Amino acid sequence: MQYEHESIFCIVDYHAITQPYEPEQLRERRRAMAVSLLAAGLNPNQCSIFVQSQVPEHTELAWMFNTITPLGELERQTQFKEKSQRQESVPAGILNYPVLQAADILLYRADMVPVGEDQVQHLELSRVISRRWNSSFGRLTGRRTADGGEEREEFFPEPKPLLTPTRRIMGLDGQSKMSKSMGNTVALLESPDSIWAKLRPAVTDPKRIKRTDPGTPEVCNIYHLHKAFSPVATVEHVATQCTTAGWGCIDCKKVLAESMETELVPIRRRAAELVAEPARIDDALASGAARCRRLAGETMRVVRDRMGF
Ligand code: SF4
Repeated sequence: MQYEHESIFCIVDYHAITQPYEPEQLRERRRAMAVSLLAAGLNPNQCSIFVQSQVPEHTELAWMFNTITPLGELERQTQFKEKSQRQESVPAGILNYPVLQAADILLYRADMVPVGEDQVQHLELSRVISRRWNSSFGRLTGRRTADGGEEREEFFPEPKPLLTPTRRIMGLDGQSKMSKSMGNTVALLESPDSIWAKLRPAVTDPKRIKRTDPGTPEVCNIYHLHKAFSPVATVEHVATQCTTAGWGCIDCKKVLAESMETELVPIRRRAAELVAEPARIDDALASGAARCRRLAGETMRVVRDRMGF
């Protein structure tokens, strides 16, 4: 994306604090996320990468959007329902989480957002917020709409989802999507031993009880991880071996661990290089934040004006 589009990548530390957290760990996690993103291939000369809290306009715009977002829309969000079920006392930040997301996107008037399938609903809410803001505060163009109303400028675009082939990575528990708060993730910079310790007991096709039982790859999360990490020929081999009980699930997971290693070794190597040169990380985040503050300032000048400030 960074070579095809003007791209902005945000490390969302204001979102992170909607879950219980330790301040010192937040600092470490923010840094670790920057290292992961840069090591995974983001090139600061080609895109902007920055920390959300370094651009205060995110929360300013989120507050303004809160005033036009219907409560019912927020309560209907699947992620809110799931997260709030897991907690006795639900902070308002979890409810308003997608409003801050809308601000993250619309602050840069982005028209495309790479998301997983689970985020499509949140993105739809961003589109709703964009439409509402435009119809309430967009400048009158002097023209008439098709139904005879007064046309307003579309200051904010309606951002569209850009889904990747791997639309949803389920967690190793096979129950819910990969999520740090569920403890079912594999991290980009995790050691091979640690990854194997998680992969080994990971849930597979529940009907494959004995080694001689044929399996159904499509219902198995390990198969979907193969599709994300393994070459096409390996994925086909996995399907054959599974449906004919040609191998056991541990054999299958060993091959997956190897495919993951092939992808993750260069990322880990680049991460180690970055950690040894912290100024490179600081420079990337500082230049990203400076550019985003400028873009955010331009948007907010218009937003404040149109909203009467
Ligand atoms: S053989 Fe592989 S794809 Fe089949 S059930 Fe076991 S882990 Fe899943």
